[in-house]
Amino acid sequence: MDGTVQKERSDLLCMDRAALVALVTEECKEKPYRAAQIAAWLCKAALFDEMTDLPKPLIARLKECATLSYPAVFDKKVSALDKTVKFLYRLTDGQLVEAVVMRYEHGYSICISTQAGCRMGCRFCASTLGGRVRNLTEGEMLGEILVAQRSLGVRISHVVLMGIGEPLDNYDHVLRFLRLVSAKEGLNISGRNISLSTCGLVPRIADLAKENLPLTLSVSLHASDNKRRSAIMPVNDRYPLEELLPACRDYFDATGRRISFEYTLIAGENDAPADADALAALLKTSFGDRPFHVNLIPVNPVKESGFQQGSRASVLAFCRRLNRLHVNATVRRTLGADINASCGQLRHAAGQNAKGNQNS
Ligand code: SAH
Repeated sequence: MDGTVQKERSDLLCMDRAALVALVTEECKEKPYRAAQIAAWLCKAALFDEMTDLPKPLIARLKECATLSYPAVFDKKVSALDKTVKFLYRLTDGQLVEAVVMRYEHGYSICISTQAGCRMGCRFCASTLGGRVRNLTEGEMLGEILVAQRSLGVRISHVVLMGIGEPLDNYDHVLRFLRLVSAKEGLNISGRNISLSTCGLVPRIADLAKENLPLTLSVSLHASDNKRRSAIMPVNDRYPLEELLPACRDYFDATGRRISFEYTLIAGENDAPADADALAALLKTSFGDRPFHVNLIPVNPVKESGFQQGSRASVLAFCRRLNRLHVNATVRRTLGADINASCGQLRHAAGQNAKGNQNS
């Protein structure tokens, strides 16, 4: 033993500019501008040895006092239908998570995972079938974007937190991720181009309203009465509609950001004309004349749930009925239907769950 204590090595992808400057100046005894050089390399998902404008001794010192690991591309599927790309990433501990890159007129958008697994238990969702294994760090979430950009050679301009996991069940890491991804000296993706989707953790929605971030909040509603919402979303027993909807209204009042409600249409469960009427009535009662949007998602059948999609005609009829009731509603475009692009389907197919199987 030489008596020295090995300092805990710090993860570069989790560092904001101040932390990088401190690392460079205090640990590496270098000039602060080196932090900007490193940050630029991280934006390109570069490895230490690719950082060619850094002096070799600095690289050697960085390797000693910091870690840098990006998610590894375990599988990558490209849709023949619409060029949507699904990444299955392997994290350092072997956990698999998914991200999907979609091309829109406004540029590239990525849907990222926030947890390995999920403990919310929604009946139609593949992500929750094996429970939650762990939260992702802000560096891992950032890594999902960086690796996708490098792999595809594109710049991603929009981010949605709608992959595996419940973002508000990983609040602190997700908040740090949101600040990192929107930092001017980082990827510089404005909060206006970021959507966060939640199953409705009411106290965290109230916290988020105070963070002063110009995000779009999407709220998974899926039913307009407590009995049926609880039957498909156990979280509704903890935070029923009479608590969730006022929290959404307060979020709009605090941030001025229009809420988007997600409503997954399940044949014979929640897609009758009377369900459209009940949904319109509920939202109007809760929101008064405030704006809101309803995003209709035809359910993506997951074997374990037994839920089925209704016909295209019934989906469009549901949407038209809402529109006639002056509800701003649209049907979500289905992208990547041929590559299992829906939440958690690849991770689940790879057999990962909370009980083990973590070394695939
Ligand atoms: N935990 C967050 C983000 C998850 S997924 C949330 O619950 O909002 C993003 C959206 O896809 C949610 O609205 C979720 O309910 C929905 N979803 C999950 N599985 C689905 C499936 N099989 N078919 C259609 N929508 C699904």
